[in-house]
Amino acid sequence: MVYGNKHKAVLQAIIHEGALHEDNGKDLIIRLFDHNNTAKVLSEINAQLRPLYMTIKCMTCEVTGQLYWVFASTVQDKSASFHPEFSQAELALLRSVYSEIVTSSNGYVSSTFCLNLCSSLNLRLSKAEADEFLHEMVTRKWLYSKDGKYYMGVRSIAELLQYFKDTYENNLQICTLCKQELFYSEKCSTCDAATHVYCLENYARNHGGPTECPNCHHPIPGNDSSNDAKDVECAPQVETDVEMTQSSQSKRSKRRHKN
Ligand SMILES: [Zn+2]
Ligand SMILES: [Zn+2]
Repeated sequence: MVYGNKHKAVLQAIIHEGALHEDNGKDLIIRLFDHNNTAKVLSEINAQLRPLYMTIKCMTCEVTGQLYWVFASTVQDKSASFHPEFSQAELALLRSVYSEIVTSSNGYVSSTFCLNLCSSLNLRLSKAEADEFLHEMVTRKWLYSKDGKYYMGVRSIAELLQYFKDTYENNLQICTLCKQELFYSEKCSTCDAATHVYCLENYARNHGGPTECPNCHHPIPGNDSSNDAKDVECAPQVETDVEMTQSSQSKRSKRRHKN
């Protein structure tokens, strides 16, 4: 099918959300196209986006296992300077939050700690402003938040992996199963191997029986962190549709910053 208004409507929905939940994307495609071949529609959109160095990536949330379609640049942002619409103080706060998440042993940072960063970093940002900014980062899926904690969001993983690799070389962990970098994981208490929660669930499902460490086969006790993870059938993580070329034409949705 030729690229047309229906494709544009799907793309606009994804851009509007930043990361569109796959269920909503599927509903939209069925409504618009009268079929459910989402892979076909997405690849037709991606063909159109290629010359703009943009793409739709299929990403899994590390915490919930939910799938999202993320509008991302194919040229990785190496400095996390992304977003002309954010103030310097907001970016400094965000980089510090990233830093805390990456260097933590558990893949998250408490919101109280994040708000206290404002004063410890001497940021020109009140706690209320920081709180509002971080909430917006959650809404736009750059961060994920649950129970007063911030985790890495799907968009950050889709767009900033190269930045994280460059900045935290020795701190990034690799999933035992899918071999991708990860931030939030199920850790084996015996051998310390780290595995995505959703990779571990797929693994346990395929093997039947109790959950065990894919590395040392020590049993991993049932956890409650995956309560909201629903059946995820789609293959994990990261479509590598990357063309390394010149600088990214920033076609990101604009937010006028109120300063
Ligand atoms: Zn994995
Ligand atoms: Zn183990």
